Amino acid sequence: MENNITFKEFNISQKTLRAIEDMGFEEPTPIQVSTIPAILEGRDVTGQAQTGTGKTAAFGVPAIERVDPDSRETQVLVLSPTRELAIQTAEEFARLAKHHRGINILPIYGGQAIDRQFRALQRGAQVVVGTPGRVLDHLDRGTLSFAGVKFVVLDEADQMLDMGFREDIEKILDETPRNRQTVLFSATLPRPILEISKRFQKDPEFISVARKEVTVPQIEQLYLEVRSRDRLEILTRLLDMYDPELTLIFSNTKRGVDDLTTHLQARGYFAEGLHGDMKQALRDRVMAKFRAGNIDMLVATDVAARGIDVEDVDLVINYDVPQDIDYYIHRIGRTARAGRAGRAVTFVGPKEYFKLRTIQDYTRIKIARIPLPTQGDVEESRTRKLIDRVQQVINEGNLEHYANLIERIISEDYTSLEVAAALLKLELGGAGPADRGQGLPQDIGPAQGLALLRIPLGREHQIRPKDIVGALAGETGIPGSAIGAINIYDTYSTVDVPLDAADRVIEGMKGKTIARVRLTRPIEIVGAPGGNASPGGR
Ligand code: AMP
Repeated sequence: MENNITFKEFNISQKTLRAIEDMGFEEPTPIQVSTIPAILEGRDVTGQAQTGTGKTAAFGVPAIERVDPDSRETQVLVLSPTRELAIQTAEEFARLAKHHRGINILPIYGGQAIDRQFRALQRGAQVVVGTPGRVLDHLDRGTLSFAGVKFVVLDEADQMLDMGFREDIEKILDETPRNRQTVLFSATLPRPILEISKRFQKDPEFISVARKEVTVPQIEQLYLEVRSRDRLEILTRLLDMYDPELTLIFSNTKRGVDDLTTHLQARGYFAEGLHGDMKQALRDRVMAKFRAGNIDMLVATDVAARGIDVEDVDLVINYDVPQDIDYYIHRIGRTARAGRAGRAVTFVGPKEYFKLRTIQDYTRIKIARIPLPTQGDVEESRTRKLIDRVQQVINEGNLEHYANLIERIISEDYTSLEVAAALLKLELGGAGPADRGQGLPQDIGPAQGLALLRIPLGREHQIRPKDIVGALAGETGIPGSAIGAINIYDTYSTVDVPLDAADRVIEGMKGKTIARVRLTRPIEIVGAPGGNASPGGR
């Protein structure tokens, strides 16, 4: 899997390189490494690759390079089995062509008003991504011409055949210029695909990414299904629930690493990011901190994680399903070293399930599905740990001094149960289930049981989320984990805190400093659960 090849080594334009950079891709995936150079050379290629491997960019990058923006003719034709894939592919092409001027990309598929497609085709689309039926329809009507087509892609060819498009595909290919380049991608290569390849490709190069036999160590492998917008919330619940000492979180892109690190820091976690764009010295510093236990979690891309060797990682989170099976194996292998117990949890988006299935099929490992943790689960886990700790402290003895204190409180007419309950409430940050509401996974959305506070310091004062977390936790004692979403605006910031901690924060912060800037005006409550008060006052 370690190919050590960068996109820069391909013979592609700066414009495309910049687009790839913007997309946050750190290095080409294995299928890209093996197909892009051959396609760029002009060879016909048959690539065996599933969705999720980066196959779209594998043909998208060379396709964009082939387009002459000065001509309005259709030059690239991509055939896709479904409307969804056609749209997705067109979007990926658009991202890749972002810095090229004058390249128009048009998805055409059944179900969309045909006259709208006429107009778009009339304007000229150098790249057409379409389903075979609709492409043929336009060809028959004379609204699409293949005269200038030089590059044809059959994407998910096995799917297209399964859907009965074989005849349409053959007709389309017969109509395209003979000197075209023909690229075919398919998850499987059954006989009919090979027949199409034989008939329509010239001396094709067959490429599939070879795999070694794998042995996966004893790691508890789990997955959960989570919508994109709920991922952060679910991640923090998992972290709170498992309470790991060292966590490694993987994201597929550099941008993903940066975003997630910022969000985690804003929520008060000691997290740092690691990716290939960072200077070696900085990477070393982050790693040293991680090893020394000064940070609890490392958010990394696959490339950046390769160079690191840390023992004792007790939780690996795949915030995205990895691009490649080998990445998966490499990632989860970071935990359960030296016979220790380890756990790996993969976040699976609604459209990613099949990627996970491929991983399971290949590794022949059952990855168990777990339900989304609720706020109640987090509390339950925290309570269980607290009870354990309390028992341990009792067993260790030496409690006379504290017992005397309790006796003093009891003499003021409280029961020992009340005293213990009050101490527990303090320990738990004053936010028990009754205070917070029992968040069910479906409830993720507007924060419940929280107050929105307005802090009269903002970007102008160079305030960062972690300064707010640090000041609030340090000055008022509310635990960092109880501090919710933070937004920094130009002149002020907002922060969610548990409703019953709001007064403590307002009082406790009076006249205090945040990032060495003194608060000359008090913090105010501007919203409550369900309320829609806005921070206002700008
Ligand atoms: P595909 O297999 O084409 O469906 O791609 C799956 C996802 O991987 C898409 O969201 C792509 O944008 C993304 N992707 C493609 N190439 C890379 C890469 N080299 N690094 C990271 N992500 C990639």
